[in-house]
Amino acid sequence: MSLRSSLCLLSYALLTALPLDATDVVWPTTMDRAAIHAPQDYLQPTVSGKTESGSFGMVREDGRRFHEGIDIRPTSVNADGEPLDLALAAMDGQVAYLNPNINGPYGKYVVLFHGSAEIPVYTLYAHLAKIEPSLRVAQPLRRGTPIGLMGHTSAGVSPITKDRSHLHFEVGLMLSTGYKLWYAAQAENKQSANLHELYNGQNLVGMDPMLVLARPKVDLLAALRSQPTALTVAMRTNRTPDFVQRYPALARGDVTRAAGWYVEFAWHGMPLRWTALDAHSPQLPSGGWRLMEVDQEKRAQLIQRKMLGADGRSAGELLRQNVEILLSTAR
Ligand SMILES: [Zn+2]
Repeated sequence: MSLRSSLCLLSYALLTALPLDATDVVWPTTMDRAAIHAPQDYLQPTVSGKTESGSFGMVREDGRRFHEGIDIRPTSVNADGEPLDLALAAMDGQVAYLNPNINGPYGKYVVLFHGSAEIPVYTLYAHLAKIEPSLRVAQPLRRGTPIGLMGHTSAGVSPITKDRSHLHFEVGLMLSTGYKLWYAAQAENKQSANLHELYNGQNLVGMDPMLVLARPKVDLLAALRSQPTALTVAMRTNRTPDFVQRYPALARGDVTRAAGWYVEFAWHGMPLRWTALDAHSPQLPSGGWRLMEVDQEKRAQLIQRKMLGADGRSAGELLRQNVEILLSTAR
């Protein structure tokens, strides 16, 4: 065999071996993943009883309300009907945030950070009855480690009844480390303190958790990139947004010469790809930011999600908010 063909074989072997380097993922509850054959096997529906209301997307109130994660039902309950299932760390990582109080829609919740995945994502575990008392912020955790007991804690507008106990599970990215300053600057927040610092749900942008949980090994970056672009935005910035520094794999172009960014968003609000714009780029707005293109096939969904205004042409409330948070460290 020639050296050249053996090198070819070697590179082929390396390429085909790539999935072995992917991130190991376990199901985030004590439910047996092998027992899951259909969505109704793991999803806890809302009071509507519709299975899909427990999944990710515009699945609530006839498509008008978004659900940023999945709701996983218990497999066993005690004599009082309280779940016995545990919430488990989905991937290797570390504790990012612990909220032992019932003071918001998530109730008692835990956020983990997975810095060694193909892209550093967080996972979030909400409505817990109890957080594992030994957990400390920054503590490293192996996948499968119990982090709490499934429950129904929430201080949301409509309480979660015991018979609807579930683990609300999210996976995604953080918009900005400038979130606390942005939050404090909003007039409507004057009366309500930010109780969760950077781990407020507004600053965490989730993707469909089944893109990550469906298989025991996943390339997180590939899963994230599999989400299609629904609209694009161009922004002028003096400094590099911390989002780009945190997730350099999502950026392309010459960061050092960037006078702004062309950003592709998923329909639900996650920024997917950032292209640096130089000072002469025709796409660079004269100031601030502007909406560029919209995938017309996703127009209705974008309006429902408030990524677009009711007219379908202007920026919606959520897009405005996410862009302002993203720019909070880059003005
Ligand atoms: Zn939920």
